[in-house]
Amino acid sequence: MPSVSCVPPIACTRGHPPYDPVAHARRLGLTIVQSHAVDGWGDYREGVIRLHPALTTVERRVTIAHEIVHHERGDDGAYCTSWHERRGELRVHECAAARLLPVCALAYAVRVVGDEGPSSRPALADVLDVDQYTLSVRLDHLTAADHAYIRSAVRRAGLWHRAL
Ligand SMILES: [Zn+2]
Repeated sequence: MPSVSCVPPIACTRGHPPYDPVAHARRLGLTIVQSHAVDGWGDYREGVIRLHPALTTVERRVTIAHEIVHHERGDDGAYCTSWHERRGELRVHECAAARLLPVCALAYAVRVVGDEGPSSRPALADVLDVDQYTLSVRLDHLTAADHAYIRSAVRRAGLWHRAL
């Protein structure tokens, strides 16, 4: 399978290559399989990421990024309580979202879409190849410096900046 695309999905203004979860999983020696037995989008156990076969390309990309974080944390899928599970899952997804959506990619997407208000989130998610939940998790955890970077990039493009 070719690993190089002729069209970069995101033209990063800081020179970062776009994050490729499949390549990252390969570098870590993880195996990716499809399985109807998955409850939800995917899971991770003992070096194997299982994906539900019905996922879209975007859902696969996001799920692989998420399951890589489980691998790195040494999670093998079991949480003691539902509270720990909810909390743990959010932490995992924050990390995956930060990798999938570096601030330079967010700034690029805002320039492409031309707006960044709440109504433009579906379009931003589209440009960024993520689902809207992942975009929301990322936007909820931007720092003041991240906002300043995006504001400056958008201003350079001549657009009016509104809070994300
Ligand atoms: Zn998870």
